[in-house]
Amino acid sequence: MSTRPVLAVVGRPNVGKSQMVNRILGRREAVVQDLPGVTRDRVSYDASWNGREFIIVDTGGWASDARGMAARIAEQAELAIATADAVLLVVDATVGITDEDEAVVRVLRRSAKPVVLAANKVDDQRLEAEAAGMWNLGLGEPHPVSALHGRGSGDLLDAVLAALPEAPREEDPEPGGPRRVAIVGKPNVGKSSLLNKLTRQDRSVVDNVAGTTVDPVDELVTLGGETDRFIDTAGLRRRVKEASGHEYYASLRTQQAAERAEVCVVVIDASETIADQDLKLLTMVEEAGKALVIAYNKWDLTDDERRRYLTREIERDVQAFGWAPRVNISALTGRNVDKLKTAVDAALAGWETRVTTGQLNAFLGRVAASHPHPVRSGKQPRILFGTQAQNCPPTFALFTSGRMDPPYVRFVERRLREEFGFAGTPVIIEVRPRQKRGK
Ligand code: GDP
Repeated sequence: MSTRPVLAVVGRPNVGKSQMVNRILGRREAVVQDLPGVTRDRVSYDASWNGREFIIVDTGGWASDARGMAARIAEQAELAIATADAVLLVVDATVGITDEDEAVVRVLRRSAKPVVLAANKVDDQRLEAEAAGMWNLGLGEPHPVSALHGRGSGDLLDAVLAALPEAPREEDPEPGGPRRVAIVGKPNVGKSSLLNKLTRQDRSVVDNVAGTTVDPVDELVTLGGETDRFIDTAGLRRRVKEASGHEYYASLRTQQAAERAEVCVVVIDASETIADQDLKLLTMVEEAGKALVIAYNKWDLTDDERRRYLTREIERDVQAFGWAPRVNISALTGRNVDKLKTAVDAALAGWETRVTTGQLNAFLGRVAASHPHPVRSGKQPRILFGTQAQNCPPTFALFTSGRMDPPYVRFVERRLREEFGFAGTPVIIEVRPRQKRGK
């Protein structure tokens, strides 16, 4: 899969950014309103238009601080510029140009990023004249749209596609080339220390790979005779987390690193109680469909008592990720750091596994014979046929005679794992009930 280009949506609050994002995504879910002071876990979304896929970064709504609105918005634009291939600036045609809009424009001008200008809230033809006033921003043609009603959004998306780079930002890795590994985790769990240990232990940090934006973002590191590409190590080395807007920036960077990676090493501090944020990162990796290794770091700081507690915490909270290889490491002493490579390889192997249609259906037949789906309102849904639609991660389509209970689908997943392995990888099962005829 190639890396998709990134579109950042910027603009002051209340211009309808969230609505615009929803409009582009073609759905109403997930995006909260433009409330100042709201922090989000999720900041980027998969989008597509006319068969082209891209990623939308929604820059609205992270915690406000004491500084003025214009400064905050300029900062927002700056963050967006740093991470995006193109920027969609949303302004409110019914209000006209404000100081805050101009603050954003100044930042955008300094950058070389392509900008598409959306004059929003043009709900009917009468308002198109107001939209034309947005030429005065000096960013070129304003595209009149109504994010609320969808008016003009097709033309806007065409302009967005034209602004996004045609070629993927990163060429598809050649087969047999370096694997893409991301080290993720909440702040201070030891990610930078681990990276340093890995690069020091094996003195052949081959190269810095130039990023598309400004800094070298990846490093090629040779571990156990094989070269891996560590994603966005600049983020770990440069301590961007200490920069302003840190929470937002850190989560954006983490998400993007995970998107670009094939396998994520989620680092958790074993010396402290497992936190919500650790679990959210695990979920994020799973939802991104990446291979996963869990590294419990700072093992040197754990005593018997702490390890007993940790075991309980893992049983209680991390059980859903029981399929991920676990390594107890110390980035400080180097304990087990070499074992990470083995775990990463195992996870990647699971992620790439292909099961033939013959093997799969023989297996499904055995499962159905020993554990048929329970009867529901007099009917018993059956699996008619299954096929592995893709790997990386393994994704199965099950054609069925009716809807299946989610617990039954989870049961099938468990059995699939027992049968075929899939260590270290999410497994996706899509149930496709047979269409009723004559409708
Ligand atoms: P990051 O924010 O995840 O990159 O975390 P750092 O690598 O900056 O580490 C945070 C702190 O934990 C630093 O003071 C490290 O020296 C310390 N640290 C990291 N790994 C270990 C470890 O395995 N054992 C101990 N005792 N300290 C560690």
